[in-house]
Amino acid sequence: MEIFHISAECYPVAKVGGLADVVGALPKYLNQLGHQAKVIVPGYDTKFSRENEFENVHNGQLTLGYFQFSYSILKEKRNQLGFELYQIVIPDLFDRPNIYSYEDDTERFLAFQIAFLNWITETNQYPDILHCHDHHSGLIPFMVQNCYNYQHLKQIPTVLTIHNAQYQGWFEANKLHYLPDFHPSKLGFLEWNGAINPLASAIKCVWKITTVSPSYLEEISSNANGLENLLRYERRKSIGILNGIDNEVWNAKTDEMLAINYDLNDFIKGKTKNKKILCEQFNLDFKKPLFTFIGRLVGEKGADLLTEICSVALNQNVNKINILVLGSGDAGVESSLENLKSFYYGNYNAYIGYNEKLAHQIYAGADFLLMPSRVEPCGLNQMYALRYGTIPIVRRTGGLKDTVLDIGDGGFGICHNETSVFDVNYSINRAINLYKDSEKFDAVRKSTMQIDHSWDKVATEYINVYQSLKKLTK
Ligand code: ADP
Repeated sequence: MEIFHISAECYPVAKVGGLADVVGALPKYLNQLGHQAKVIVPGYDTKFSRENEFENVHNGQLTLGYFQFSYSILKEKRNQLGFELYQIVIPDLFDRPNIYSYEDDTERFLAFQIAFLNWITETNQYPDILHCHDHHSGLIPFMVQNCYNYQHLKQIPTVLTIHNAQYQGWFEANKLHYLPDFHPSKLGFLEWNGAINPLASAIKCVWKITTVSPSYLEEISSNANGLENLLRYERRKSIGILNGIDNEVWNAKTDEMLAINYDLNDFIKGKTKNKKILCEQFNLDFKKPLFTFIGRLVGEKGADLLTEICSVALNQNVNKINILVLGSGDAGVESSLENLKSFYYGNYNAYIGYNEKLAHQIYAGADFLLMPSRVEPCGLNQMYALRYGTIPIVRRTGGLKDTVLDIGDGGFGICHNETSVFDVNYSINRAINLYKDSEKFDAVRKSTMQIDHSWDKVATEYINVYQSLKKLTK
């Protein structure tokens, strides 16, 4: 089957979070199983775009209301990612360094989707599946069903993966004329709660919905930023498929970003060396247990509580633990985490910003990874931590619930029920006790490294979805 993944992010081309990791891995594993999965992303001005060779395979025009844009389709020449990568270059809209958070994001992602549909129309391509990811490609299912320009694509099954239902891409009805023409009776497929809502539209129009973990599918029927009723209504066409991780990228034995590589046989030595280097870099004492946090500094991740969590833990365990935070996001959280440095000098440090290499080094060098998330559709951090022998401390929610079993229940992680300072600190104290029992600590770490979350088996679940949809077209 030929499957087109249309996404705003794809690792290592353009990454903000887990969406990129999934789109950068799943297609590779689909191809390894004999399919032709291709990825289409906007042509941002990123390091990857600048440093790799692309060939121009198509040029075209698109209309957004009264505005005309030229677009080009650039194909990455070497297929080095394990799949064909296409960038849609639209001058003025995407040749910028950041992926999101521009005032004209509505126009940018609409133009991206229209350019994609124009391209496959003008080049007579009929893939077997159009796989959309989050709201940035969420209007494609509506357009192929209802816009006059794309009626010939109507029979192609569409899939939507919801990586995060909090972000929906809504915009006011006064921008409706940006969309290619359709019959006014179809307007209801675009609207939700008085606005044009691309994620809601995709949920209504798409053939199949997948969420990135089974528990998240359950949770969004009661917590989905206003889409709960709609998701309950469309439950029958939804399925939860737990994300995998790319074991080729996340392999402590070969990871070029690590100072020292290690595997199951020498992980104690390997992790200690990585920890030592990390602690030296951040002025921490490597003999103490090292707690870390990696992620977007937003309420969903419980980051608003992080400063207090760190203070309480460091006050309760004076000079007995280290905490290292890597993240960026909410400006208030960023500055309070920065300020903490002067209070707990030598026991606490933070890197405010995005740093892929440092993230790898932390997964390898840390002892524990904190994930006090309020919402976690899947969560990849805990899976990377497990693979690198770092014990996750998680709130039981979404994908965290599906992937981390508490040591008290015969598992390998530390779990708590609430995103609260009290619950996280209770877990930190449990972790300190585990750290002191070095035999048990090492046994738990060893067991985490053997857990298999590879895409190999997850990719077949997606293939089953595609095949069941393909049957409906015969
Ligand atoms: P989300 O997509 O909600 O942000 P996920 O757990 O699904 O969360 O994925 C997060 C991904 O982003 C992981 O690969 C993680 O290592 C990475 N990441 C998040 N913040 C940073 C950061 N500041 N620096 C480097 N990597 C980060």
